[in-house]
Amino acid sequence: MRVVMVGPPGAGKGTQAKLLRERFGAAHVSTGDILREAQRAGTPLGMEVRRYLDEGRLVPDDVVTNIVGERIAAPDCRAGYILDGFPRTLVQAQSLDQIMAARSEHLDGAVFIVVPQEELVRRLSGRRVCRGCGAMYHVIFDPPAFPGVCGRCNGELYQREDDREETIRRRLEVYASETGPVVEHYRSVGLLREADGLGTREEVFGRIAAGVQ
Ligand code: AMP
Repeated sequence: MRVVMVGPPGAGKGTQAKLLRERFGAAHVSTGDILREAQRAGTPLGMEVRRYLDEGRLVPDDVVTNIVGERIAAPDCRAGYILDGFPRTLVQAQSLDQIMAARSEHLDGAVFIVVPQEELVRRLSGRRVCRGCGAMYHVIFDPPAFPGVCGRCNGELYQREDDREETIRRRLEVYASETGPVVEHYRSVGLLREADGLGTREEVFGRIAAGVQ
């Protein structure tokens, strides 16, 4: 299985990509996770992208495209991959087409999770992430048993810099202007698999899995 997840920030792409990985055995490739990890580790890539991430702006196309090109050549991607958060611009979508064509691979679908804007803001502003294991919580919808502490690994929960209210608005604007055309691109070539993103994660997964099989 080779799919891309193209919904807006907060739609549940990461959560659903992990469930798809479990069900279909494909690798989960999240450009956001890779960039945050580079930032945390203080690598040259991390230094280069820090400002973009903190301000909720897109990292330059060539930077993310190189990351994805290398990542999908790794052995664990041989059985398939789920790209989460890439492509986010039309240029990235075209680059992905070229990379995949050179590898004689084709895309099975572009999963588009549909969630109303006010719901996205609610979800993102309450989101908390574990520093230790990356588990996600929500202060209202999915709170940890002890405030600020991960129930799985006892790690510290934190709010991503770009999950603050003003940055969320910027990310949603960037999404509408840059990623909206990507959605239309996949629609026009018949690859778009739209799924209602409201409901429990299992309900949403049921809709997505039915669409990509
Ligand atoms: P995410 O975790 O997918 O919301 O990504 C977090 C941040 O990483 C975004 O706000 C961008 O700054 C950056 N980023 C992730 N994926 C991409 C991409 N495909 N193109 C450009 N920037 C990206």
